[in-house]
Amino acid sequence: MSKPRAFISRRIPQPAIDIVAAACDYGIWDDLMAAPRDLFLREAAQSDGVLVMPSERIDDEFLNAAPRVKIVANMAVGYDNIDVPALTARGVLATNTPDVLTETTADVAWALLMAAARRLVEGQRVMEAGQWGAWHPFYMLGQDVYGATIGIVGAGRIGTAVARRARAFNMRVLYHNRKRAPQLEVALQAEYRPFDDLLRESDFVVMTAPLTDETRGMFGAREFALMKETAVFVNVARGGVVKEAELVEALKRGRPWAAGLDVFEVEPTPKDNPLFALPNFVGTPHIGSATLRTRTAMATLAAQNLVNALTGRPPLTPVNPEVLASFRGDSA
Ligand code: NAP
Repeated sequence: MSKPRAFISRRIPQPAIDIVAAACDYGIWDDLMAAPRDLFLREAAQSDGVLVMPSERIDDEFLNAAPRVKIVANMAVGYDNIDVPALTARGVLATNTPDVLTETTADVAWALLMAAARRLVEGQRVMEAGQWGAWHPFYMLGQDVYGATIGIVGAGRIGTAVARRARAFNMRVLYHNRKRAPQLEVALQAEYRPFDDLLRESDFVVMTAPLTDETRGMFGAREFALMKETAVFVNVARGGVVKEAELVEALKRGRPWAAGLDVFEVEPTPKDNPLFALPNFVGTPHIGSATLRTRTAMATLAAQNLVNALTGRPPLTPVNPEVLASFRGDSA
């Protein structure tokens, strides 16, 4: 019996390639940069499954080009690059990589929160520029993190991990989801708030909800104006949830007081992004899950999902499990 064919769209950690190689004939775009779209589509056309990064758009064009594909294994927990309803309509599975990146991403949210609150990047810039002035009682004042109130928008896996860090800082935790999360309320004494109330009451607003039609542009001038003058805003979700030009204007006016972003409307963000001219902004280049251990765990989970689906076993973390009922993963 011939093996199923898979295509891996980027160089990934070797343990994940080994998993695919053991069960499939496979092709790989063995490069750190994304494959050209036409090459990717040509490879997908000959494949039963693909392991992809968030940079690959999985849409109607892809589905038309790749009629054999039964599984799209995304190496990310967010799957806004995938048109899930279109896949489901054609009986194609999508999988993601939840859990394995939760703590690593929450660490970056926390790092941005601390850096913005205590002016770490601004402080370094001032020293490097030889502008470290004389000490005085009001020099470089920041915002207290310990004991403050944090509001988490999208308190799922990553948001809950942020909330745990906040509890260790003796913070009061507010959250806003579409549905209340009783386990969070019990385990972390988190209090539910309607969105606007959370914005008004929080010293720190941290966004960890996925990018969807509902959350696109969720933070703009109106929302920033509702925040406290001392508020710090952190986004580790996706760049599209923030109207970046409106954040620039809000930061110039000082409400919110500071912001930390790991994700941007356009990535890579251009070096003349006006955010970089603002002392009350800190940024990181989408490194939420960027440790070798976590990237290896993400890649191996994606590989296992791919192989399972192509060898007749249920994938570990399906995004559209309803496809499984009619799914034929027996291409071998
Ligand atoms: P998750 O466990 O699914 O949590 C997402 C939470 O958002 C859920 O609790 C959900 O609750 C809530 N939510 C969804 N739509 C909402 C809305 N319209 N308003 C308010 N809350 C909403 O996902 P996760 O594993 O924590 O990951 C979250 C996101 O983080 C991913 O989708 C990804 O985009 C991003 N991420 C970024 C990085 C990075 O490198 N910066 C790394 C990993 C993940 P309800 O369903 O009750 O609303």
